[in-house]
Amino acid sequence: MYDTMSRALKTISSSDGAVRIYCCGPTVYRDAHVGNLRTFLLSDLISRTLQMTGLEVTLVQNITDVGHMADDFSEEDKMLAESEKTKVDPFEIARTFEARFHLDLQRLNIQGADSYPRASEKMPQMIAAIEKLIDLNYAYVGSDGSVYFDATSFPTYGALSGNKLEALKPGHRYEFTDEGGKRFHADWALWKLAGARTQMIWDSPWGAGFPGWHIECSAMSIELLDGHVDLHIGGIDLRFPHHENERAQSDSLTGDETVDTWVHGEHLLFEGRKMSKSAGNVVLLQDVIDRGLDPLSLRFALLENRYRSQMDLSWASLEAAHSTLKRWRQLLADSGSGVELKFDQEISDAFTTDLDTPRAMQRIRAIEKDSTIGALDKRALFLFADQVLGLELDRGVESKEPSDEIKALLAARITARAEKNWSLSDSLRDQLSEAGLEIKDGANGQEWSWR
Ligand code: AMP
Ligand code: ZN
Repeated sequence: MYDTMSRALKTISSSDGAVRIYCCGPTVYRDAHVGNLRTFLLSDLISRTLQMTGLEVTLVQNITDVGHMADDFSEEDKMLAESEKTKVDPFEIARTFEARFHLDLQRLNIQGADSYPRASEKMPQMIAAIEKLIDLNYAYVGSDGSVYFDATSFPTYGALSGNKLEALKPGHRYEFTDEGGKRFHADWALWKLAGARTQMIWDSPWGAGFPGWHIECSAMSIELLDGHVDLHIGGIDLRFPHHENERAQSDSLTGDETVDTWVHGEHLLFEGRKMSKSAGNVVLLQDVIDRGLDPLSLRFALLENRYRSQMDLSWASLEAAHSTLKRWRQLLADSGSGVELKFDQEISDAFTTDLDTPRAMQRIRAIEKDSTIGALDKRALFLFADQVLGLELDRGVESKEPSDEIKALLAARITARAEKNWSLSDSLRDQLSEAGLEIKDGANGQEWSWR
């Protein structure tokens, strides 16, 4: 995998039985959009690839339900801002969106992590980590009573992101909040005093308050992965300041290079634009499902792009993914029911070489077209690839008998077309499509299949 820190490919191995992976999880004050899901899929694809090669994996993914500042650095906590807007208890909001996050993972066939620690339930660990950082002189209590990490105390600060301390300009805000109490502009808060805030605050040796976002990931990864992370995963936007700060904290706490390999996934655009609430173009997995598309067509479309390149997703590519997925499932359904896998060097190499999923998909397409490969072998090769692709290619295609009502609509549409009543034929198509049917008008007249 390409390691952001050394800017080179690194071999992933297990330092202790299983490969210990930490993936930054969702901030649960809203639904994860298809871009967030691209990043969560990345850790699934890597885990599955490692498992394919015979390694075991321990995966931890945190749930940020406190401490994450707003995107725009306005001085608001995301959870509390949403709570203020909707008048719903912040913890209730968090639990609702956490459940929806898990539902999305299931729909995308993402294997569950070994644990999903919630930040709000790891206060003792975070407070202990902050106390230790103060003891070791990496952190200090600022003039406002909040606790800050002293960026200058960590000699290789900036090595991960390339943002060296001397280049970070004073006056620019790298971090949220009234951080008037810090000594140096690049320092960041580990513990913030409650001030006027009354919700989501905890007692601490420095007074009631709440933790900074970055300390959450250090405390949880060190506790749950036993002081060492073989592989750390997140979206590219987290490289700075989140991961740069996490590295400084974790390494100061363990006295060692805590993370072996840092993997960052590039961002997803939708129809050429960055997804944002303000632009109104945020796409959720539910939107994909509401269009009658299989949720795994999102997984399919994401697999066709390398995780390290920025990707532009569109409805057209999701539609295309949906129909190819169906064709592949049909191919497997037609070729028997055995579950034998056949190893393929090229597919294996593609996955293990910095997760080259487009190459694996190309190889599958070539196998599909290759008339010298028998149906059973094709099936076994597809199933081999599906260990990582996770497209449920062996699920079969829906073949249920349509209801009498649907049969009547189909018949009515044949009549409408014979009478050249195109507007009626179109509206019948829409009704059938809503009922889950896909209609094609070919040389043999009207044909239909389940979506
Ligand atoms: P958040 O819920 O905002 O904390 O983000 C969860 C994960 O999604 C983080 O790893 C982000 O880096 C990642 N992420 C945010 N936006 C995108 C995007 N457009 N494409 C891919 N990943 C993203
Ligand atoms: Zn994190």
